[in-house]
Amino acid sequence: MIREECGVIGVSFSRESSLDVSYQLYYGLYALQHRGQESAGMAVFDKGRVNLYKNMGLIFEVFNKKLGKLDGSAGIGHVRYSTIGESNIENSQPFLINHKGKAFAIVHNGNLVNYRKLRSNAERRGEVFTSTSDSEVMLHLIIGEVRDEREITPAISAVMEKMKGSYSAILLVEDCIIAFRDPLGIKPLCIGRIDGGYIVASESVAIDTLDGEFIRDVMPGEVIILKDGKIIREERLIELENTAHCMFEYVYFARPDSVIDGRSVYDVRRRIGEILAEKSNIDADFVSPTPDSGATFAIGYAKRSGLPYIESLIKNRYVGRTFIMPEQNERELAVRLKLNPIKTNIDGKRIVLVDDSVVRGTTSKRIVRMLKKSGAKEVHLCVGCPPLISPCYFGVDFTTKDELVASKKSVEEILKIIGADSLHYISVEDLIEAIGKKREDICLACLTGEYRIKVSEI
Ligand code: SF4
Repeated sequence: MIREECGVIGVSFSRESSLDVSYQLYYGLYALQHRGQESAGMAVFDKGRVNLYKNMGLIFEVFNKKLGKLDGSAGIGHVRYSTIGESNIENSQPFLINHKGKAFAIVHNGNLVNYRKLRSNAERRGEVFTSTSDSEVMLHLIIGEVRDEREITPAISAVMEKMKGSYSAILLVEDCIIAFRDPLGIKPLCIGRIDGGYIVASESVAIDTLDGEFIRDVMPGEVIILKDGKIIREERLIELENTAHCMFEYVYFARPDSVIDGRSVYDVRRRIGEILAEKSNIDADFVSPTPDSGATFAIGYAKRSGLPYIESLIKNRYVGRTFIMPEQNERELAVRLKLNPIKTNIDGKRIVLVDDSVVRGTTSKRIVRMLKKSGAKEVHLCVGCPPLISPCYFGVDFTTKDELVASKKSVEEILKIIGADSLHYISVEDLIEAIGKKREDICLACLTGEYRIKVSEI
């Protein structure tokens, strides 16, 4: 089954604009590269047809020498990562289907939990799929509704009623960009103004990179249509009492310089670090981050505790993030490739090590071992995410309880496995305070086991 975390982008320019849409998509995708490193693609509308190019690899590998061939005034782009066995070109995005002379392309971040049911219903109707992706099923559903002579907005509305799960999706239908977000707003999506048009993207950093102006988040259950560099429709199709914004975007996935659903990711992480310092109260020589994702938490910790912020590990910036490497053995190798200790800073010192999260525990164990081997007298691990005890069905790469160390082990047992001198997690209540939203508006399912979409539907 497909489980993915991705980055999506869509750009619409006025016909008069001299800017090249493929270059804007390229630079915007570069800003979203952290959301997926296995494949990338874009679909661009030009002179009555949609040109598609996608391949396995990083943005610069995929689009090297291809950009000039993807001219146009509207386009969508995607970066993707997947879990074991599903990292292949067939599942890379955008998906493109030509129907009655019209091209429909889609990019999607999220996971449809009723994907199997939707797909088997479609197969019974005789529809044929070229991938195992839920995004392709979504595209078939939309085309199925349009086929019944509906306008695109009612078609999206009808499809929203059928789909369960998370989706921040962008559709390209000829020169129209149609962005929509699931009614719980699980995955992020925002809109901004750029020179000569508009951009929709997973994170505000893509808008910043294009020197654009952030306008707002796409609301849960909303559809926004762009054409010829203008917003031609904004409509909330489904409005629920509460949202379920993914807490893991704030803790791990999003870039710290993004603003998601009204909250700066940097501010949330710094506040988490402050709370960790208040609650853990550790006697140590300095605070050090697990680079790079622990850095903002450690800055908050240092500020509140008064301990100096000193680096003890240096990251090789040319190695991808370990958590999003698809195979376990690749992940372990990646830790060694990625981090190297600064022995002169570490030797004889008592260190507060701050990390964003402990998922499987393997990375934390290796880092603690690395620090101790370099002479650390004590290593106290502070974690910015409460214990992960339940799988995520909405697009983050821990889909079974078994792979989550905290689902089977107590904090004391995890401490033993990791080999640190003490282990401190932020609590769920303190995380909610740091995010600064109502508990009912945040997805905490992987921390509490309480799913906002019934588990029986999953
Ligand atoms: S289960 Fe956890 S990772 Fe998945 S969407 Fe909810 S908060 Fe995010």
